Amino acid sequence: MKRLTILGSTGSIGVSTLDIVAGHRDRFEVVALTAGNNLDLLKHQIEEFRPKMVSVLTCDLASSLERMLTGNKPEIHHGVAGLIAAATAGEADMVVAAIVGAAGLVPTAAAIKAGKDVALANKETLVTAGRLMMDLVRDKGVKLYPVDSEHSAIFQSLEGQSRKDVKRIILTASGGPFLTLPLEQLSRVSINDALNHPNWSMGQKITIDSATMMNKGLEVIEARWLFETAAEQIDVNIHPQSIIHSMVEYVDGCVMAQLGVPDMKAPIAYALTYPERIATGVNPLDLTALAGLTFYAPDYRRFPALKLAYDALASGESMPAVMNAANEVAVEAFLKGRICFTDIASFIARTMDAHDSRALVSIEDVLSADLWARGTTRALLGLS
Ligand code: NAD
Ligand code: MG
Repeated sequence: MKRLTILGSTGSIGVSTLDIVAGHRDRFEVVALTAGNNLDLLKHQIEEFRPKMVSVLTCDLASSLERMLTGNKPEIHHGVAGLIAAATAGEADMVVAAIVGAAGLVPTAAAIKAGKDVALANKETLVTAGRLMMDLVRDKGVKLYPVDSEHSAIFQSLEGQSRKDVKRIILTASGGPFLTLPLEQLSRVSINDALNHPNWSMGQKITIDSATMMNKGLEVIEARWLFETAAEQIDVNIHPQSIIHSMVEYVDGCVMAQLGVPDMKAPIAYALTYPERIATGVNPLDLTALAGLTFYAPDYRRFPALKLAYDALASGESMPAVMNAANEVAVEAFLKGRICFTDIASFIARTMDAHDSRALVSIEDVLSADLWARGTTRALLGLS
């Protein structure tokens, strides 16, 4: 029996994780769940999975949840302290890190410090604090399994191989909804256009990140740390069908790839049960039904955010955390209708230009770079 804590249980990844748990009650038990403010869904999850502990964003939400529940209630926590309590809850063997954004960093770090294995969906943890987190993983001797479909594909394509034989990692990207839109129309796309991802159903922030391809930029940085690979050895190919989830090229010219229909349940399950595989309910892949698999090199004029991520990685240290925070602020501004789609990358670039990269010695250094970037981007947006 594997005992799980799920951070961000009411999100897209959290819900898919609990679907897998529901299909394999003999394998998994839920110790703790955390959510933001979706109390109705959390209540439902509490009744179905009976965690011992839950946590929500605020004290008020915790009181409301307390009133909504009847019978045997779990411990109800709130805030960052509540996230840490859940992430470190004694009984859990594995923590699924599925909070969105830099808010996932502190609880994920706490889980690793407490010796928990982690199934990592929250890529922002490695983007902002990659070196510190990988050092922590090594020090604590815990396992860090990728949930991101590309990184799961790479992880699977590296199985049984020798790292010294790897020539290149090839991350695939769908290209999002604006892959073929005439460039001059990009500044006029609507919020709904940007939220209409062709292949994947995901949370709002990552869906916008997919449209700008910042998501792929974040994934390049995530891969750099997860697989200890130099940026020059990580390439991105646009593959609009999202059937090949990523590839590894070896020195002999052989390329290993992992294929499947786009459904996050497959990589989530692999992270939960590695090295075993379990049924996930994911539709089988019918290659004969596909019109074809195509690949393109990304165009930085269309996707400047991807270039910014390579630049941030080259600057190193605090720059990726600054880029990530600027992106979170800019995406939120876009979703509120304050800026247009192409402004997202411009405001990130301006924030990065204003930053002198500094060494990151502790998580506090990361949080202070993140805070600086949020303030700077907000000021550039005229919001503070
Ligand atoms: P989502 O927006 O659907 O869900 C996020 C979850 O985090 C929710 O439970 C929400 O309540 C909680 N949350 C949000 N802000 C919080 C805060 N400040 N404090 C505490 N909890 C907070 O997001 P998602 O699409 O499930 O993505 C989660 C993570 O997984 C992201 O880092 C994303 O990049 C990554 N990821 C997602 C997918 C996908 O298919 N959705 C694929 C690959 C990677
Ligand atoms: Mg991905």
